[in-house]
Amino acid sequence: MFNAIQIHNDEAGYRTELTQVDPTQLPEGDVQVAVEYSGLNYKDALAITGKGKIARRFPMVPGIDLAGTVTATSHAEFAVGDKVLLNGWGVGESHWGGLAQQARLKGDWLIPLPETFTARQAMAIGTAGYTAMLCVMALEKHGIRPDSGPVLVTGAGGGVGSVAIALLAELGYEVHAATGRPQEADYLLGLGAKEIVTRESLSQPGAPLAKARWAGAVDTVGSHTLANVCAALHYNGVVAACGLAQGMDFPASVAPFILRGITLAGIDSVMRPKQDRQAAWARLAEDLSLAKLDAMTQEISLAEAIPAAERLLAGQIRGRLVVDVNR
Ligand code: NDP
Repeated sequence: MFNAIQIHNDEAGYRTELTQVDPTQLPEGDVQVAVEYSGLNYKDALAITGKGKIARRFPMVPGIDLAGTVTATSHAEFAVGDKVLLNGWGVGESHWGGLAQQARLKGDWLIPLPETFTARQAMAIGTAGYTAMLCVMALEKHGIRPDSGPVLVTGAGGGVGSVAIALLAELGYEVHAATGRPQEADYLLGLGAKEIVTRESLSQPGAPLAKARWAGAVDTVGSHTLANVCAALHYNGVVAACGLAQGMDFPASVAPFILRGITLAGIDSVMRPKQDRQAAWARLAEDLSLAKLDAMTQEISLAEAIPAAERLLAGQIRGRLVVDVNR
C-alpha cells in the first residue's frame, strides 16, 4: 500500500482525504514512478477544495507535478532508476497525479530530471516556475529585451510571480512587482524587483489607454488587471498572459492593440510539446538562482497539502509550496 491524497465525489459529497492505496489500483501507463516530491499549484488547490472543476473523474489523485525515480518501465526512453519529471498533460485532472508516493503514467509525458536540479528543487519550481519561464521566453520571442524598458509581474507574491521576478531580474530586466500584500515588499525586492505596484491600482475597471509604463508584463491575474496592463504597455509592448487569479474575464479594449501595436501572448503549460518543455527546463537550469528558489520555497508533508490548498486560494501562500510525499 502507498500513501496518496484522493478526491472523492459521490453521494457523500465532494471530499479530499489522505488515504492508503493498493498499487494494483494505479491507472494504466508504461512507466511507474516512486514519487519523491510534488508541489501545490493553484490548479491543485482548486482540485483539492473543489472550488474549480479540475478533477475529471473520481476517485482522483491530485497533483499536476511530480519528480521521482522510475521503478518499472516498458517505454523505450526510460530505464529503471532514471530520475524523471512531469508537469501537466492532464495528470492530477483526468489521470492520477503526483500527490502520492507512487504514480503510473505515459512515458511520453515524462522528461528526464535536469541534472542541475534535485527532485525537490524541480518540484519547488513546478508547473508555476516552468510557466514563469515560458512567459519570459514569450517576452523574448516577441522582442522584449532588458533595454526595452521595465517589465511588470502581477500576482507577484504567488508561485508564478515569484519565479518570474527572480528570472527576469537575473536576466537584467528592471522588474516591477504588483502585489496585494504590501507586507511582502521586502521579499519581492529580495527576489530582484525594483519597484512595488499596488494590486488595487490595476484591479479596478480602467481607461482603454493609460500612460505607457511597461515594455512587457507577465500576468498571472487576468480580468481588469490584464486589461489595465494592456492599456499601460509601451508602443510594441508585450504581455504574456497565463493566469486568472482575479478572474477569467478579460474586459479590455482594442485601443492598445490598434494604437500601440501591443501583443498579447497566451501561455499554456499543460499541453505544451515536449521540446518546448525541455527548452524551458534547460533555461531554468541556466537562469534561475537556486538561492532565490530556496528563499521562495516552503516544504510541507502530504497531509499538510490538504489544508494548505485553502490558504493558497486565499492568496496567503508566499512563493512555492513543495510537498515531500514520503512524510
Ligand atoms: P498562487 O496562488 O501562488 O499566486 C497567485 C497570486 O495572485 C497570489 O499570490 C496573489 O499575489 C495574486 N492574487 C490572488 N488573488 C487575487 C485577486 N483576487 N486579484 C488579484 N491578484 C490576486 O498561484 P500561481 O502563481 O501558482 O498561479 C497563478 C495563476 O497562474 C493561477 O491563475 C493559475 O491557474 C495560473 N497558471 C496557469 C498556467 C498555465 O499553463 N497557463 C500554469 C500555472 C499557473 P499577491 O498577493 O502578490 O497579489
